Amino acid sequence: MTIHHLNCGTLHPPSQLLVNGRGGLTAPATLVCRCLLVPAGKYWALIDAGLGMSDLRDPRGRLGDTFLRRVRPALDPEETAIRQVQKLDIDPHDVRSIILTHHDLDHVGGISDFPWADVYVSRKQVDLIIPVLRRDMARRLHPAQWSHTPQWAPVDLLETWRSRPARRVSDQLRLVALDGHIDGHCAVVIDREGRSPLIHAGDAIMDARTDLFGGRAPLGLLAFQYKTRTDARAWKESRAWLKECVDEGIDVVCSHDPNPRITGSH
Ligand SMILES: [Zn+2]
Repeated sequence: MTIHHLNCGTLHPPSQLLVNGRGGLTAPATLVCRCLLVPAGKYWALIDAGLGMSDLRDPRGRLGDTFLRRVRPALDPEETAIRQVQKLDIDPHDVRSIILTHHDLDHVGGISDFPWADVYVSRKQVDLIIPVLRRDMARRLHPAQWSHTPQWAPVDLLETWRSRPARRVSDQLRLVALDGHIDGHCAVVIDREGRSPLIHAGDAIMDARTDLFGGRAPLGLLAFQYKTRTDARAWKESRAWLKECVDEGIDVVCSHDPNPRITGSH
């Protein structure tokens, strides 16, 4: 089973030192928007969607000035999921499902490039945006990104996986509650034959080296995580749970850490 790691949006917030933990104080940092393309029977599933072609065509309208100014996305069409799928010689129509960790704008923009796909996301996340965007979310969630009326498939987390609310969405994929960063934030767990599962932890962690193995997280990144989390206690619990998974040899990757191989066996 080949899982493709796609960077669907390089971001360059200020200060390599404060965000990447090395390099110059005033040099731009580099973060990625990691999406995973996973075989799903005859078809493919995309985990998170990064920035899409419509975001690049209308960055101010779709992403907003604050995001553009603060994180300075590369806005490179070659980084969109749809271009990368085509480059892999995969018919984009074969991407039949998209599973989102959450709706923040750097994770959801690419869904409009795959309007035929079912978009799985936790019911709690869908409740934030439908029918009316919750007011306190207006800064980080941008309805323009789902104005094409996606085929939402809200997921009720009625099962459990390793003691957390969860729900299987296909033979090898399941959403697992990983709250704290934003209401309804989930991890996506990929079962792999003959190996331990792989967890895409979304934005529950941002610098795996320090978030999961101790040490001092880059200050700017830590400050960003504190600022964006909506539930401090749940955020801490989610990270403790991820650490337990890693300690037991389960691989964990996250959205923005540019290091593609983070933990466990890989
Ligand atoms: Zn993010």
